[in-house]
Amino acid sequence: MKIAFIGLGAMGYPMARHLAKEHDVTVWNRTREKAERHGREHGTMVAAELADTAAAEVIITMLPTSKEVDEVVDQLLPHVRPGTLWIEATSGDPNVSRETAKRLEAKGVAFVDAPVTGAIVGAENATLTIMIGGTPEAFERAKQILRLNGKTLIHVGPVGAGHAIKVLTNSIMGATVWITSECLLLAKQLGIDMKTALEVTNAGSGRSNASENLLPMRLRDGKWPLVFKLAHHDKDIRIAASLSHQQHASTPMLALTQQLFSAALHQLDEGADYIEVAKIVARMNGTSWD
Ligand code: NDP
Repeated sequence: MKIAFIGLGAMGYPMARHLAKEHDVTVWNRTREKAERHGREHGTMVAAELADTAAAEVIITMLPTSKEVDEVVDQLLPHVRPGTLWIEATSGDPNVSRETAKRLEAKGVAFVDAPVTGAIVGAENATLTIMIGGTPEAFERAKQILRLNGKTLIHVGPVGAGHAIKVLTNSIMGATVWITSECLLLAKQLGIDMKTALEVTNAGSGRSNASENLLPMRLRDGKWPLVFKLAHHDKDIRIAASLSHQQHASTPMLALTQQLFSAALHQLDEGADYIEVAKIVARMNGTSWD
């Protein structure tokens, strides 16, 4: 199968590598040097121009937001061919993806939104969970490709459903990281050793990915590596909050989480990792994680 992969960032780079094991993959990246490196390292072809990617049978986008995807769609629309499948793997906005799907459908191109979860390690090890929105037929086609990137591929509904559930699960994670940080730091202020506080949390009903993995890893090593940009996480939670608003839903926890994450992003720099919100929680309490 001829596949074009657009966006060789932290996630896209390893994803395109796995696809190249079984397919004829052409890569395109805004910073061309990265695409050339991919070609050298993984035997992928490098598109001379973005428009050249339109010759593929499957086009995959893995970009920061739906805005960048829309710009790419604008450029490729005059060149796409009927019968192509477009897999939109960005964590995007379901409202935008539905419009994108309509624009592509008018050209005979099928569309699925297929955001992923599992972090960079999941992309590296091809163990991602991928939630896919689209017709059953498009889902089946996408599944044949994405099985090289993920272990769990779930058809979640029509176009837009993948993007919707992705931002909702990331919002759950965001709220969990925040409340876990608050309570662990309060435990510390109450004189309880942090390791003990974590041990009790993880042996009881307060445990979560935040308490079992995300925070302990950083506390153990004293390192706060960049694995998922806070700017991306903030974007996801803002999309979730806007969907809630659109539905006229009552989601005060989600609204608060969105406000807290946006505030944290203003306090930290653009390159901050999402778990660094825990540092802001510490700062709000005049304490630290040391
Ligand atoms: P990165 O920031 O690492 O990479 C972004 C990619 O988009 C790069 O290839 C970049 O090109 C390209 N890009 C940025 N702006 C433009 C533009 N205007 N036009 C064309 N290309 C552009 O992001 P990630 O790989 O971390 O994330 C990608 C998506 O996956 C996001 O939606 C994110 O929310 C989601 N995601 C990320 C996870 C993670 O752990 N990192 C986990 C799950 C989902 P260039 O090289 O030139 O900068």
